[in-house]
Amino acid sequence: MTAVTTASGMPGALAASQVADPILEIRDLTVEYGFGENPVRVLDHVNLTLGRGELLGLAGESGCGKSTLAYGATRLLPPPGVIRSGEVIFRGRDRDAYDILELRDKDLRAARWRDFAIVFQGAMNSLNPVHRLGDQIMDAVKAHQPKVKRAEARDRAAYLLDMVGISTDRMKAYPHQLSGGMRQRAMIATALALEPELLIMDEPTTALDVVMQRQILEEIADLRQRLGFSVIFITHDVSLLVEVADRIAIMYAGEIVEQAGAQDAYRRPRHPYTKGLLSSFPPLRGARRELGGIPGSPPDLAALPAGCPFAARCPHAFDRCRVEDPVLGPTAFAATEPTRLVACHLHTDPGVEVPAELALR
Ligand code: SF4
Repeated sequence: MTAVTTASGMPGALAASQVADPILEIRDLTVEYGFGENPVRVLDHVNLTLGRGELLGLAGESGCGKSTLAYGATRLLPPPGVIRSGEVIFRGRDRDAYDILELRDKDLRAARWRDFAIVFQGAMNSLNPVHRLGDQIMDAVKAHQPKVKRAEARDRAAYLLDMVGISTDRMKAYPHQLSGGMRQRAMIATALALEPELLIMDEPTTALDVVMQRQILEEIADLRQRLGFSVIFITHDVSLLVEVADRIAIMYAGEIVEQAGAQDAYRRPRHPYTKGLLSSFPPLRGARRELGGIPGSPPDLAALPAGCPFAARCPHAFDRCRVEDPVLGPTAFAATEPTRLVACHLHTDPGVEVPAELALR
């Protein structure tokens, strides 16, 4: 495995020194789809740091690059996805830091599940329909720890199912005999089989109703507290994250446009896109209000306009926005919110007054 240095000082990176005890540092990750002369850039020099034990929510509309970030960082990107640049530094508790993108295939196989695991969208597609639930979890354990005896693997499968709230008498059930919520819990149990230090969850609750979504996310937050793993939770529903995530990163058109503590992002969004996303969901508490939404649709990544990719939909766009793409960085309020990063000229252009709804409160 390759030895690595500490945090980069590249633009847009929330320096690892600002995140207590980082477990994952995604640095300058660029991903394109397609080969030849006109590949489509779907991730553009993305930087993201995750603290040990932290639950980070990654939110944005469909097609903004959330899943590509997860698959790129863990080398699960299917063709024609190509990683053009970047490093993904994993810092396990008991082993040297390594760059996931540089691992040999053998080391990568060992690192998956042991160090980091992914829960994918659509549990029905991830579970084998012709195998019993318990056997599938036991197979996962045996595949990575071949020396484990079958009885031990069975005990472990029962323990994992119990941990996620599934009665052990469902060990013999087939996936179609379980509800959607149970199937998704079973996937979480399988991902935790080798006690990874990092769990990446790609819209794991999207197919479930909102009550079940919230319940599962709360259970993940609880398991995280008990077992001490870190979580990146990907969703298009930012409202789901507000009460359980420590920090939220918002993506738009292949870039991270805002990062902040979850409560800060919810109460005081600084980026017009974050503000729009939050106004697209009903408030958690208080009086009912009309949902605002965001006019228009995300840009075609194959033909991105010059300047800020959000300019065509932004109610605050001004001349500079149409020629210069803003860089993720601290806001004018950095003294009071040092861990907030925003990619918006409103917060860096001294000649522009920040609209009251995005200003310091
Ligand atoms: Fe809106 Fe300009 Fe900020 Fe982009 S840079 S979000 S267009 S104000």
